[in-house]
Amino acid sequence: LALALLLVVPSAAAQPSPPPPEKRVLLLLPSDTAFPWTAPLSAALRATLEQGEETVLVFSEEIDVSRFNDPGYPDRLQAWLAEKYRSTPLDLIVAPGPQPLAFLDHHAPPAWQRVPVVALHNPRLGPPATLAGGITGYASQYELRATVEEAMTLVPGTRRVAAIWGASADERERAVLLMSELRDMNGIEILALGGLRLPDLLARLRALPPDAIVLFLGFRVDGDGRSFLPERALAQIAGASPRPVFGVHEPLVGHGLVGGRVASFEQAGVALAALSARVLGGERAASIPFTMNNFADSRYDARELARWGIDVRAVPAAATVINREETLFERYRWSLLAIVAAFLVQAALIGALLVERERRRRAESKARRSLGQLAHLDRVAAMGELATSLAHELNQPLAAILANAQAARRLLAADEPDLAEVRASLDDIVDDDKRAGEVIRRMRALLKKDEFRPEPVDLNDTVRNVTRLLAQDAARRGVAVDTELSPNLAPVRGDAVQLQQVVLNLLVNAFDAVARCPAERRRVVVRTREQLSGSLELSIEDAGDGIPGPHLGQLFEPFFTTKAEGLGMGLSITRSILELHGGEIVAQNLDGGGASFRCVLPRYGRGHVPAESRARAA
Ligand code: ADP
Repeated sequence: LALALLLVVPSAAAQPSPPPPEKRVLLLLPSDTAFPWTAPLSAALRATLEQGEETVLVFSEEIDVSRFNDPGYPDRLQAWLAEKYRSTPLDLIVAPGPQPLAFLDHHAPPAWQRVPVVALHNPRLGPPATLAGGITGYASQYELRATVEEAMTLVPGTRRVAAIWGASADERERAVLLMSELRDMNGIEILALGGLRLPDLLARLRALPPDAIVLFLGFRVDGDGRSFLPERALAQIAGASPRPVFGVHEPLVGHGLVGGRVASFEQAGVALAALSARVLGGERAASIPFTMNNFADSRYDARELARWGIDVRAVPAAATVINREETLFERYRWSLLAIVAAFLVQAALIGALLVERERRRRAESKARRSLGQLAHLDRVAAMGELATSLAHELNQPLAAILANAQAARRLLAADEPDLAEVRASLDDIVDDDKRAGEVIRRMRALLKKDEFRPEPVDLNDTVRNVTRLLAQDAARRGVAVDTELSPNLAPVRGDAVQLQQVVLNLLVNAFDAVARCPAERRRVVVRTREQLSGSLELSIEDAGDGIPGPHLGQLFEPFFTTKAEGLGMGLSITRSILELHGGEIVAQNLDGGGASFRCVLPRYGRGHVPAESRARAA
């Protein structure tokens, strides 16, 4: 039941409404829509009319008297239109231009004679025709004179105007009217290039004097009766002309015209449509007076201006300029901005990197300074540890000096002193004194914070010095230090004090390593030898417990220590010193237990020498 009600109610409510009355408008075009001005006018008119409230049907017909110009044509056209529109009554006819208006005046089919007309009328032809259905519209003409005047300001020195038009009767008539406007321009000679065959026209153009400009009024049919579309004809004309071509049709700017005061057919179409709407809305056409409007504006083509060397700034300020080339900056603005931005970012990055590098450089030199200080401190600490052995070292020569001095005194106290014995005692005193002095000198050298100044250093001497320095310490700890020093060893390139430091560090570590071993294993061997490559090798081996596997990779890291009172700096400093010398240090465990530290140092006065060349030299 509910469904039945729903179905019934809407059908009962619907009332069939009568279709809205539609208006029929005929647009009577002068030429076919391929002509550049017909299309914009027609499109603007249709668009404007169809926007309105009422339903408007627009029909269009073409008069085309330029191409259909035999005497019987208007009558045949009239008959055909009467037949075509027999059952299609019109409410309005739009006649944009003299040809449609003339056709309506003389050949309107009878059914159209009471139809109101909205027209574009050329006032040069006199007052508009009086039509039975009433007529209104715009009095509109091409601005020939204004165009030539503007052209003369753009092309100073212009004395002649070569005017071009086609060969059809319609064009010839219109040209006569147009030219009358130019005739009374002061100091201007008109060269009439109308009605010519195209080849002749082009030849005439090529011969134009330099004080001429060209004025293009149209070219539908040439002297041979060939039809042209205006853009095509203009392209050939502009291509052949040695002088700039001006014109009065807006759609031709961009097809070879420099420009001019050009008529806009689009504007005309919109204006005619507005007027048509008023008439369709009920106003009597005859009661609306004609309005003057040329629908003309200054319009120029920047490419053509450039071709003729005319400064674009010379055109009137209100003019429209098409094809205006953007400046390089305008065209590449975004690219340029992007490049500038990228440049700035890059500059900032470079700046940041420079600042960073400077900071790193400072940090590095600070680190180097503190490493130097550490090395120095380490030496001081080592010296502290060695104070006892040094005291012993000094005690021994001092005691020997004392003993020899006393012996000498005793010998001299005898009745017949043995002078040879006395001399021997004095010699011993001198030797012991030298030895004591040497001990003190070495201590000073160890305490001095020197810069690295490489010199030839005998590794064997270095080893001997340090083992002598540590002899007391070794004895106290019960460690036997064996040396196997290669005779006639070439000098290494280095700093004697720093190399002593290396031997000292490695020996002290070795002493520590064997400290808890049974007496027979408390042995350390120091070796020197020359490698086949010519580099010199120093190795220190102990018979201790060796280095636990996991520690092998960490030994040389600063502060790595396994000792209760260790600093963990010895090996780190040792490696730094060797690297400074261009050498290296390797730690390994020995097969029979114990550790080996092998240092390789470059030979003084020679780079790395391969084994083969050394063998040959030998
Ligand atoms: P420190 O002696 O203050 O501990 P080092 O840099 O001299 O610092 O040595 C670091 C560590 O390397 C030592 O603590 C020890 O564990 C290990 N080491 C050095 N020499 C030997 C060696 N001859 N035998 C075994 N271990 C060693």
